Amino acid sequence: MIIHLKDTVSASEAAKLAEDVKAFHLVSNGKNVLVLGSGVKEVPASIEDKTAEHWVFPNDMQLAARSYRNETRTVKVGNVSIGGNTGNTLIISGPCSVESEEQIRQSAALLKANGLTSLRGGCYKPRTSPYSFQGMGLEGLKLLAKMREEFGFTVVTEARDATHIDEIIEHADVIQVGAKAMYDQGILRACAKTQKTVLIKRGFGTTLQEFVQAAEFVLSGGNENVLLCERGIRTFETGTRFTLDLCGVEWLKHYTNLPVVLDPSHAMGYAYGVAGLTRACVALGVDGLLVEVHPNPKVAKSDASQQLDHAQFEALLSSIKPIAQTVGYNIV
Ligand code: PEP
Ligand code: MN
Repeated sequence: MIIHLKDTVSASEAAKLAEDVKAFHLVSNGKNVLVLGSGVKEVPASIEDKTAEHWVFPNDMQLAARSYRNETRTVKVGNVSIGGNTGNTLIISGPCSVESEEQIRQSAALLKANGLTSLRGGCYKPRTSPYSFQGMGLEGLKLLAKMREEFGFTVVTEARDATHIDEIIEHADVIQVGAKAMYDQGILRACAKTQKTVLIKRGFGTTLQEFVQAAEFVLSGGNENVLLCERGIRTFETGTRFTLDLCGVEWLKHYTNLPVVLDPSHAMGYAYGVAGLTRACVALGVDGLLVEVHPNPKVAKSDASQQLDHAQFEALLSSIKPIAQTVGYNIV
């Protein structure tokens, strides 16, 4: 249940009431909001006279539910806003991993030349094998920060686990919570305590509702700057790396109020299909796209097979602009 308290209730009184009824308290658009579990169907008697409005839900998809806010939230990614009525499809691009200063600078120059503003690159990589490249760690984060300084970019990077989440929060503009990390409560709870934008990727065996519930951890803790990212789920098919769940994307757009970002690179797993799949994503009308690009994909230290080279990336960019316009969006 979500309760909007009356305007006469102060924030400190609201915090006290929340404690009494064991609810989450957040201040949203200047309103004191209490969030209880979806099992609660009636306003607790002790706060009845303080309640202005309340919503009852069939499940624990609450703050993210369209039945609570019947619009897509507007979320800032650096200087760009997405969702709401912005009509923006934001391109977040860069290599899978930050590998060296020279490499990330080449990626930065590519983005700059194409008028893009959001640079991604992993520094703590959640690899399936302990023997593969694990990322540059703090050294990589510092390189991203350097690119931010020099190029004015917004930097997107992932948290692998809760041990280094403070470092990520300090250095990133957008905290990416990866497909494997989205169940990590330490990460989610830390993301709830910052106001930085959080990009949560759907686990490859995660139902849509579980996915949204991960977002609820962040929202209910007081950070409303959340983006959902569909990046492919595991099906019986092994010809491609994963299966991009476009049906799920329409479900998220219909039932949730969070902006949706699509990641065709990780879903496809092979560069040959990334451009076509990206165009399909753009045609759906989406708030953002995450596309991996590398100056020399053949020697990439992670996800080599799916990263586009610079020429492929630029060709893709020019092909998606008219598609975005057809569905009422702008590539930014
Ligand atoms: C990535 O974005 O490089 C990544 C590891 O993604 P995912 O968490 O979706 O596998
Ligand atoms: Mn990757």
